[in-house]
Amino acid sequence: MFEGPRYLVSFGPKRVPHCFTDVLILGGGLAGLRAALAVDKSLSVTVVTKDDLRASSSQWAQGGIASVVDPDDRFDNHITDTLVAGADLCHEDVVNSVVREAPQRIAELIAWGTKFDEHNGVLELGKEGGHSHHRIVHALGDATGREVMRAVIEQTRTLDNLELWPDTFTIDLLTFAGSCRGALVWNPAHGKTLVWARRTILATGGAGQLYRESTNPPGASGDGLALAWRAGAELRDMEFMQFHPTVLYIAGGARSLITEAVRGAGAHLIDRDGQRFMPEFDARAELAPRDIVSRAITVVMHRTHHANVYLDLKHLDATMVRRRFPGMAEICAKFGLDLTQDRIPVRPGAHYMIGGAKVDAYGRTSLPGLFAAGEVTSSGLHGANRLASNSLLEGLVYGARAGEAASAEVLALSKKADFEAEAFQVPSIVSAKVVSREGNDGHQTLDLADIHNSLRSLMWRHVGVERTAESLAEALETVEGWCRYVLPRQFPDPQGWQLQNMLEVARLMIRAGIERRETRGVHFRSDYPATSDQLRTHIDWHRGSDQPRLEPLATALRPRASGAEA
Ligand SMILES: Cc1cc2nc3c(=O)[nH]c(=O)nc-3n(C[C@H](O)[C@H](O)[C@H](O)COP(=O)(O)OP(=O)(O)OC[C@H]3O[C@@H](n4cnc5c(N)ncnc54)[C@H](O)[C@@H]3O)c2cc1C
Repeated sequence: MFEGPRYLVSFGPKRVPHCFTDVLILGGGLAGLRAALAVDKSLSVTVVTKDDLRASSSQWAQGGIASVVDPDDRFDNHITDTLVAGADLCHEDVVNSVVREAPQRIAELIAWGTKFDEHNGVLELGKEGGHSHHRIVHALGDATGREVMRAVIEQTRTLDNLELWPDTFTIDLLTFAGSCRGALVWNPAHGKTLVWARRTILATGGAGQLYRESTNPPGASGDGLALAWRAGAELRDMEFMQFHPTVLYIAGGARSLITEAVRGAGAHLIDRDGQRFMPEFDARAELAPRDIVSRAITVVMHRTHHANVYLDLKHLDATMVRRRFPGMAEICAKFGLDLTQDRIPVRPGAHYMIGGAKVDAYGRTSLPGLFAAGEVTSSGLHGANRLASNSLLEGLVYGARAGEAASAEVLALSKKADFEAEAFQVPSIVSAKVVSREGNDGHQTLDLADIHNSLRSLMWRHVGVERTAESLAEALETVEGWCRYVLPRQFPDPQGWQLQNMLEVARLMIRAGIERRETRGVHFRSDYPATSDQLRTHIDWHRGSDQPRLEPLATALRPRASGAEA
């Protein structure tokens, strides 16, 4: 396998401006901001985001946050639902602790001013695929992320110790003497800057943009996964990309997600001939977990030779539909569709990256000095398939833990430790081969947009809902070829760095898909349709080693419990 350079660009520590902060947080979505709020007020915090704070997946979240709130629900129910969806690959201790922490995190959001939807003065709870009870706390009908982020952003604005750097791209993590020391960032106003940090928290979100069909915002290009990889942190379960079953499919239109809650409210999935098909695939019909619904839709699309299936809400009360899903009704209306009366064309799209930087219960990665939280991680919560509305929850829980733990580590450092002096010990990183996109050294100019689009199409066709040894091998050969001439180049701005990150992450996702010769959760190998007991293991990747490490799970999935406490 062709290995690219450790750093994407060359830099000389004596020629680049330096900044110093106690805790550096890369990413300003829910996980990053929740981490910032957990850092001790005596420490300085810098939050770097590559775009505006409102451009994250957190901001786009629709359905809500899962939490046991209803007195008739039980923690054990939520735990069991999460374990069952996770296809025997969740860490039960992680699931247990996250589920039990959820009500506290929701209460905290309410205390910070989040206005969740209520009915007669109590929280209105939605139900989504894979959940046995109504437990999805939501806001603004179907715009939960917008309201939660409004409140959390306002809360972070009260912090005197926080500095926010928007529109600033993190190029690479800085490592020195075996640990993470901050990051090299870039923005158009200041160029490259070395941000030295006593602790760094990676919260850069997911990688849905690696696929042509995706629900994710443009920035979800897997940068954090590539940064962690190049810096030497262990990545885990990279084959598990969750596809959301119902993404609005209108040629030329945005790929808007149609929240699971629509099916929770009773919508049916029908084929081109108007036949409802989900009961044929699963007893839970439209409320089966996402992997099952996505796969069923793919089968029906093949069977009917049609580019999509449809959501049908005609039989539901139109007033309720408009009240619960105002955002979706508005988007449909823009394309001349009435959500309450018309068949709404949908198909699956890449939605949530389950794999990521391996973290412990405090958000520590395998690289000393580097923490991580949110979608960029593999915490053990989701197993091989994330349960709906568990990811905002994970971001809140692990954001808080990573912020607290990073903060505690900084406070425990000897006051004499002078990390500023280190800045000048780091040798210049000068790539052996400095080649730019313009090809001024005789190389041909690269059309980055062309490679970007080709990569996304390739991933959709060959590494999508359904995979085979053949499709994966072809994808690997192609991506490996692109890596050979794109990774060694140096680019002047984020378009090139982002493409390099996407290629690196795509390659890992494909290799992981090849390794997992079974079907489990979101990973559907049509040439290995059964789940294998031998592969009840994580697949861990470490830069510098061509072979992955298998990490078997210790405990067996416990039987369905009746539950005792709420
Ligand atoms: C349309 C949609 C609907 C969803 N609905 C739900 C839902 O109802 N419930 C639920 O639980 N989950 C939902 N999810 C998933 C959930 O929103 C995400 O998993 C979660 O918000 C991720 O939070 P995060 O903080 O980890 O990352 P994000 O919120 O994605 O934040 C990532 C941050 O990292 C920054 N960043 C990335 N790369 C760089 C870089 N190179 N340099 C600097 N900054 C960088 C970005 O600018 C951004 O600020 C949904 C996702 C989508 C896309």
